Amino acid sequence: MSNLATLKTARSLESDEWQLRVDLAAAFRLAAINDWHEAVANHLSLAVSADGKKFLMNPRWKHFSRIKASELLLLDSADAETMNRPDAPDLTAWSIHGRMHAKVPQARCIIHLHPPYTTALASLANPEILPVDQNTARFFNRVAVDTDYGGMANSDAEGDRLGGLLGNKQIMMMGNHGVLVCASTVAEAFDLTYYLERACRNLILAYSSGQPLKVMSPAVAEKTAQEWESDRDQFHSHFAEMKAILDQRDPSYAE
Ligand SMILES: [Zn+2]
Ligand SMILES: [Zn+2]
Repeated sequence: MSNLATLKTARSLESDEWQLRVDLAAAFRLAAINDWHEAVANHLSLAVSADGKKFLMNPRWKHFSRIKASELLLLDSADAETMNRPDAPDLTAWSIHGRMHAKVPQARCIIHLHPPYTTALASLANPEILPVDQNTARFFNRVAVDTDYGGMANSDAEGDRLGGLLGNKQIMMMGNHGVLVCASTVAEAFDLTYYLERACRNLILAYSSGQPLKVMSPAVAEKTAQEWESDRDQFHSHFAEMKAILDQRDPSYAE
């Protein structure tokens, strides 16, 4: 490769990483605006290398509403010295996201949050998302459930356990805890998180009525879920619109 071609490749990799930083920073701001976050806790991460092992994540204990693209940590899941760095990430973040980026390469964007309605459902003895409307039906048979909560996730073994449990699904309801949403892009992970929280809100509200639920048949629920999946362009428009709204409110996320 000529020097010029090498320089061009380096520049395009840099601009690719910058765009990923901007997208992930936008997702933090949107999580705060939507009240899905826990102030300075919870984590969003995004792979930047082709093998998925190098990834961006939030700096430790920074409020989601103030995170900027330039401040995101660039970490390497293979780097055993990570927790000895002066800017080491939160330990539970490293345990879950580091191991999942190492072991689940298709999970390029990993959103780990405790959104109120999703977490309320994850707190029930049966955290299943029953198909009672279009949003809940989107997730029919598409969610892994972890019912073995054992305290704060602060070991590699816990990250490996969660990665194995996720299997080929994109979403894990973490019983007594919250949720993990995994996708190939920030746009898709954001869209899934948004509709998941809406789905759980509707189900919790329906439960709250005390009336019997009208649960869809498996055939109708599956058909509805497949209809959602056939229109994947919506992810990109949804996220682009949300970034445009952020740009009007406070564009500092992209700094
Ligand atoms: Zn958590
Ligand atoms: Zn996390």
